[in-house]
Amino acid sequence: MREALPLMWRNIAERYNLIGTHCATCGSNYYPQRKVCPKCRRKGQLEGRVFPGKGVILSSSQVFVSPKGFEHETPYWLAVVELDNHAKLLTQVVDSADDQVKAGARVEVVFRKIYEDSHEGAIAYGYKFKVVPGGK
Ligand SMILES: [Zn+2]
Repeated sequence: MREALPLMWRNIAERYNLIGTHCATCGSNYYPQRKVCPKCRRKGQLEGRVFPGKGVILSSSQVFVSPKGFEHETPYWLAVVELDNHAKLLTQVVDSADDQVKAGARVEVVFRKIYEDSHEGAIAYGYKFKVVPGGK
């Protein structure tokens, strides 16, 4: 049985931008979008915002055994990336040499077609990141 694609993926505007949530009360940035700021709760004032497509790897791990549907992509890299506005997200890292996918490496977003049977949230949003060698 095929699961429905995430709502975000159906929205073309969001397909080619990292649209996250900014809290005007405390200044926090979240991705993916949130309905409630975990710091401010009811006092939070949330607004959608286009996030910077650049950041730095905080941690990374190579995946050798994939979820069903991604067998043809193994091995691949998953990384926790902190964007330049301090939002953190989990992403796949592509088009990068294995020894470059490590904490501290600069990365930038790339948008990729996803397969229709994709249903693992972190990958199904349509963005991936790649290392910018000598990145700034
Ligand atoms: Zn807040």
